[in-house]
Amino acid sequence: MSNTACPQSEALFEKAGHRIPGGVNSPVRAFRGVGGTPRFIAAADGAWITDADGHRYVDYVGSWGPMILGHQHPTVISALQAQLTVGVSYGAPTAAEIDLAELLCNRVPGMDQVRLCSSGTEATMSALRLARGATGRDFILKFEGCYHGHGDALLVKAGSGLLTFGVPTSPGVPADLARYTLTATFNDLDSVDALFDQHRGQIAAVIVEPVAGNMNCVPPAPGFLEGLRQRCSADGTLLIFDEVMSGFRVGPQGAAGRYGVTPDLTTLGKIIGGGLPVGAFGGRRDVMQQLSPVGPVYQAGTLSGNPLAVCAGLTTLRLLDDAALYAGLEATTAALCSLLQAEADAAGVAFTTTQVGSMFGLFFSPGPIGGYADVLACDVERFKRFFHAMLAGGVYLAPSAFEAGFVSARHGDAELQQTRTAAREAFRAL
Ligand SMILES: *Cc1c(COP(=O)(O)O)cnc(C)c1O
Repeated sequence: MSNTACPQSEALFEKAGHRIPGGVNSPVRAFRGVGGTPRFIAAADGAWITDADGHRYVDYVGSWGPMILGHQHPTVISALQAQLTVGVSYGAPTAAEIDLAELLCNRVPGMDQVRLCSSGTEATMSALRLARGATGRDFILKFEGCYHGHGDALLVKAGSGLLTFGVPTSPGVPADLARYTLTATFNDLDSVDALFDQHRGQIAAVIVEPVAGNMNCVPPAPGFLEGLRQRCSADGTLLIFDEVMSGFRVGPQGAAGRYGVTPDLTTLGKIIGGGLPVGAFGGRRDVMQQLSPVGPVYQAGTLSGNPLAVCAGLTTLRLLDDAALYAGLEATTAALCSLLQAEADAAGVAFTTTQVGSMFGLFFSPGPIGGYADVLACDVERFKRFFHAMLAGGVYLAPSAFEAGFVSARHGDAELQQTRTAAREAFRAL
């Protein structure tokens, strides 16, 4: 069952590097966080992906979150096929966009109005511009290790890919711009208070991943989100939940619903496109009314609300209106975490997991994991060896120690069994 030899992927990676920087169109895909050759994917079905060499893997990446229903869900595929027969893009409004907007507003707490765009990055950049325009303030506050896409203002201490590559803030972000980005410590309200004290009346928005998923998976400490809500309300600051990852993932109403805290604005992406490129930002009507063409804050997109993307997203979200499906996802993910923990314990490896809904984190550390410092203290070298052993055993984890993992509705006993077998060998070999 060893999947270590991958001549086709090696040849493709070599070829890709001539015309695409690093051979990939998004950095973490290059496997630099774990070493070795990225697997080029040829096909996917259900909980499985197949690489160019014909190896099959249980997929715990799920396109970095969107594939919550599993790959090639028949209802989503047939809806896309029907849309293909009537056009792929018009650059003019369609009825399906209203349906998607209605659905988002009905399910996402505090969402009165919403604007669609084409990626999570666009959603967060636009939400910040809107927050600044609506408040007339320039500063934003984010948390170290939280990633909100690659917009300039947000590429400051942004976790994930940047953590993998050891650059706190990307070159190319002007210092004059970065100085308006304040960074606090996730799950630490004192660090937030200190920044509010220094910048009273100047902070346009606090943006947070309510369940951090780009420094591995770190759940919010009890009271943390409530504390942010209270501080933002007290200072006229807009609270933005970046639910690009957690939206429709940690529960049917995302993190806002799960934890009962309502933000002023929410950004979405990943799942709401069902695997096609969609982002969205929305929230309070008075704030959204500041957006062009009704208000002065400009935002636009040639492919925004693209018919194919809206079709995939709408069909996916309709299928997700199912409490039993979420309960099943959560149970499968709990079973996954406990079998991994059991195998680690049996092999005497210091290891901890975190879980929120069908999002999970794996840490080579005795735990507990309360925040960014705990994540940084994990044994990355051990993760790399574990990652490759799992890959050889037919299990595809995110190729970085700083990414969350995802379970789909198509993961079941067979997938968990293969994972257990691979993990037993992988932990023993550490
Ligand atoms: C993935 C992600 C983004 C960026 O979305 P893209 O579609 O990759 O631009 C933003 N915020 C969070 C929390 C994410 O997980």
